This record gives sequence, C-alpha cells and structure tokens, in this order.
Amino acid sequence: MKDEQMKIPADCKTVIFDVDGTLYDKTGIAQKMVRRLWWCLPLLMAERLARKNMHYVQYASEDEFFEAFFYQMARGHWWGPKIAEEWYRFVYMPAMVRIIRKSYHPREDVMAIIAECRQRGLRMVIYSDYGAVIEKLEALGIDSSQFDMIISAPELGALKPSESCARRLLEMLEADPKTTLFVGDREDKDGASANAVGAQYLKV
Ligand SMILES: [Mg+2]
Repeated sequence: MKDEQMKIPADCKTVIFDVDGTLYDKTGIAQKMVRRLWWCLPLLMAERLARKNMHYVQYASEDEFFEAFFYQMARGHWWGPKIAEEWYRFVYMPAMVRIIRKSYHPREDVMAIIAECRQRGLRMVIYSDYGAVIEKLEALGIDSSQFDMIISAPELGALKPSESCARRLLEMLEADPKTTLFVGDREDKDGASANAVGAQYLKV
C-alpha cells in the first residue's frame, strides 16, 4: 500500500468505490473486448459513441436513460434500439464479465482500503458507471455482501460525473459530504462527482 496517497481521512464515515479501473486495473480491457467481440465491432463502436453522447445528459429515471442510450446506439445503423439492447445485455456485458474473470484480479492497494474500512466499521458503497456490478465483483472474487449499497449512475438517470446522481446518492445514504470519500481512478468522473457534492476524493 502506497502510504501517502492511500489514506482514508480520520473523520470519514462513508466510502464510495468506483468499479472499473478502481477495484481492478483495467489496462487492456478495451482491446480484449475488441478481440472477443470482433464479429460485432460496429455495435461495440456504437456503444462507445452512445456512451460519449450520453455524457452530461440527465434523465429522470433508469428506464429513460436506457431508452435514450439504445436509441443513440441504433441511430444511423441497420439495427434498431431493441437489438442494441439485447446485444448490450446478453453479449456485451456478459463478455466484459467473462474477460474480468479470466484476466483481471483485484488491486491490492484498494483491497487494503476495503480491509481498513471494514476494520474501522465504515460504510462502504459501490457506485459504478456500468451495470452488472455484482457479476463483476463475483468475477473478481470480491464479496459483494460486504457493501452497504451497490448502485450504478444510470440507475440514477445519468453517467458520472452527474452532480444530480452524486447528490441523489448521498441523499439515499443520508451521508454528510464532509465525511464521505469517493475512491476512483478517474479525476474527470470520480473526482468530479466528489467535487460536485463537496465530498473528498482519493485517486487510485
Ligand atoms: Mg473507473
């Protein structure tokens, strides 16, 4: 554990963990996804572009978010939103989980933070930008039952670093931002989420 950067503040009560790139080092996962899903490369590219276009747009619900997301994925292509949705749920996400199970393992420094949280009795939350969170935790061999809440930003209607989603998350947790720490790998997503609500941020 790198002492200097990996300290949980003494007054911290709630720790909110990102998943991809934080619980495991996701280096190379995009290339692995392309190798596994080469036969549906246009869908893979459409997913990436749709995700980009969804940034900074807030929806009222998860249903509305995904309706817009699959519409974006289908725009200008031969497939419709329904095919995009089935591909995303039954091909794309399961492929990502399988790759994580096969090729990735939990980051030791972050597992040390989780162990410290448990020891100190801090509340632990998973806040991801993608779905299939429990499946990913299982693929990494991380016990999902140790977290007090597992949620994704789309469930709250947007992608990180949505201020509205971060605020809603803290409301659901009844957490004081001053004693809340976001742990993540992306300054522009996890750091910005923490900033938006006045919480602290720990970059891994
Ligand atoms: Mg991440």
